[in-house]
Amino acid sequence: MPREPRGASSPPTTPTHTTSIRVGIGYDSHRYAPRRPLTLGGVLIPSELGLEGHSDADAICHAITDAILGAASLGDIGEMFPDTDPANKNRDSVGMLEAAVRRISTAGYAVGQVDVTVIAELPRLAPHRDEIRARLATALGIDSQSVSVKGKSNEGMGWIGRKEGLACIAVATLIRKR
Ligand SMILES: [Zn+2]
Repeated sequence: MPREPRGASSPPTTPTHTTSIRVGIGYDSHRYAPRRPLTLGGVLIPSELGLEGHSDADAICHAITDAILGAASLGDIGEMFPDTDPANKNRDSVGMLEAAVRRISTAGYAVGQVDVTVIAELPRLAPHRDEIRARLATALGIDSQSVSVKGKSNEGMGWIGRKEGLACIAVATLIRKR
């Protein structure tokens, strides 16, 4: 029987370590509170309601931090920045994200791309989206084309629908540097 030429039916070659990609997911939520700033993705958004939290309550940064740490199997944001440590009170979350990027970089990874969904009845994200993407891209060391930020309402359902708070889900890919 003639041997089949190598082509579409050939078994896929094993990817080399330089092309290996890892995926991580992160989730965060914060309660709305009056007289608190509303900071998302490092951008201060004008709003009557802010977000309650030990740090600046930046749910986008927290979810992405968990996604990139998770992709590298390097723990989570709570381990890196315990809320029992007074140094973490009102801490700038972009700084936490940058620290997580340094940690995964030391472990041999670079951030490939990030996709974020914010689930909230308020604020409207669209007017701030490009500024948030640019701010995150700088912190992550990638192009803003590689940072996606999407807003979604919860159609009035549940605690998000009652405007008790907001939630954020992030997915990140990491690329092995060496
Ligand atoms: Zn958080």
